[in-house]
Amino acid sequence: MSIAENLREIRETLPENVRLTAVSKFHPPSVLWEAYHAGQRIFGENHVQELVPKYEHLPKDVEWHFIGHLQANKVKYIAPFIHTIQSVDSLRLLEEINKQAGKHNRKINVFLQIHIAQETHKFGFLYEDVEKLLSEKAFDTLENIRISGLMGMATLTGDGRQIRREFSNLHAFFLKIKNIYFAGDKFFSDLSIGMSDDYLIAIEEGSTMVRIGGRIFGGRIRNLGIGL
Ligand SMILES: *Cc1c(COP(=O)(O)O)cnc(C)c1O
Repeated sequence: MSIAENLREIRETLPENVRLTAVSKFHPPSVLWEAYHAGQRIFGENHVQELVPKYEHLPKDVEWHFIGHLQANKVKYIAPFIHTIQSVDSLRLLEEINKQAGKHNRKINVFLQIHIAQETHKFGFLYEDVEKLLSEKAFDTLENIRISGLMGMATLTGDGRQIRREFSNLHAFFLKIKNIYFAGDKFFSDLSIGMSDDYLIAIEEGSTMVRIGGRIFGGRIRNLGIGL
């Protein structure tokens, strides 16, 4: 199947309020162009050194999302153009994004990445860290960022019930902090959950943004089997 066909097939399964980040990491610009011509405008990348040349190759109406672990000393390279950084996992990183965005008179959207998986190697805040920072108003002085959602990655497992539980807990947390700390803030609106093999579960559990790579561009897809 072509990239255009893959995109069409995925879009048919997405409710109106769910947007698609096409995860194009490891693919050359020619492949991104194919998706662009099929109407895709949101692309997700997880390496700064790959993202910058792609930004230069592709048209300027692409919305670039950073979705990987980001080192603070690399923020400056993407600050001029990045639309959303979905993978913010420390206050220090948030402060650096704010500073670099300020240099370009921009506001950068950020999602706080929450560690919801069982694996210890996945990055992200713990739920309690985020609540503590919010209750201390730690983000309130950061004028060049806009906290616009949460992001999470489920455990790499074939157990669909576990994945569903992790997404469902994150959704409940999203609603809770939205009510308490972001009431009336129209920008805090996105829950970025769901990848190639678990995005249908994620949509059922409240996703507003899925991040799909393999199912669009080819590559390995886990088979969740029964329990999905
Ligand atoms: C690679 C990646 C994805 C996409 O994964 P697929 O299984 O290829 O859809 C989504 N989110 C993050 C953070 C990634 O690194």
